[in-house]
Amino acid sequence: MFELPKLPYGFADLEPNYDAATVELHYSKHHATYTANLNKAAEAAGLQGKSVEEILRNLSDAPAEQRTALTNHGGGYFNHNFFWESLSPKGKKLADSTLAGAKVGGATAADGLAAAIDSKWGSFEKFAEAFTAKALGHFGSGWVWLVVNAKGELEITDTHDQVSPITLGLKPLIVIDVWEHAYYLKYRNVRADWIKAWFNIANWEKAEERFLQG
Ligand code: MN
Repeated sequence: MFELPKLPYGFADLEPNYDAATVELHYSKHHATYTANLNKAAEAAGLQGKSVEEILRNLSDAPAEQRTALTNHGGGYFNHNFFWESLSPKGKKLADSTLAGAKVGGATAADGLAAAIDSKWGSFEKFAEAFTAKALGHFGSGWVWLVVNAKGELEITDTHDQVSPITLGLKPLIVIDVWEHAYYLKYRNVRADWIKAWFNIANWEKAEERFLQG
């Protein structure tokens, strides 16, 4: 049985960037519903006992008539687990890259995530501009991720609805939810303000921990 994981903070702890009412609704209604529906789909597919990562990685092995439900609810479950862990009250920043200012271009994982971001985008600020543009430009419901791609390189990518990067063979590091349910109560139609707020509570220490896990 999949269970709704405990939030790593209280509903109000991400204020004022992420309001308590949205966090509570997003977690206790949206995330809880994905959890319940994943349990039904996993049972129907005979996949009880598998981890959600195993299910998402091997969707093509699941019975064809359950694949859509497993994509939607397995992705909804995994993506939200990952999203809550991507946030932290007040946010957690990366230490400055020891390679900052140098012409890097070939930082390795051992240099840390800040160095890898500098190496790819030139600076964290330029990365943030590119991430913001992707999140603003995503049409409809979905997610914007920083991932390590199959070539081992950092990449900003978006997924639609509840498609998970796990299914696409990507290793996610951090994510923003750009479904309207993620921000509409407080930020209404102004997704740009939600993205700005997300940067204030993003947990880059967790992203780096994932990055260094290899
Ligand atoms: Mn959501």
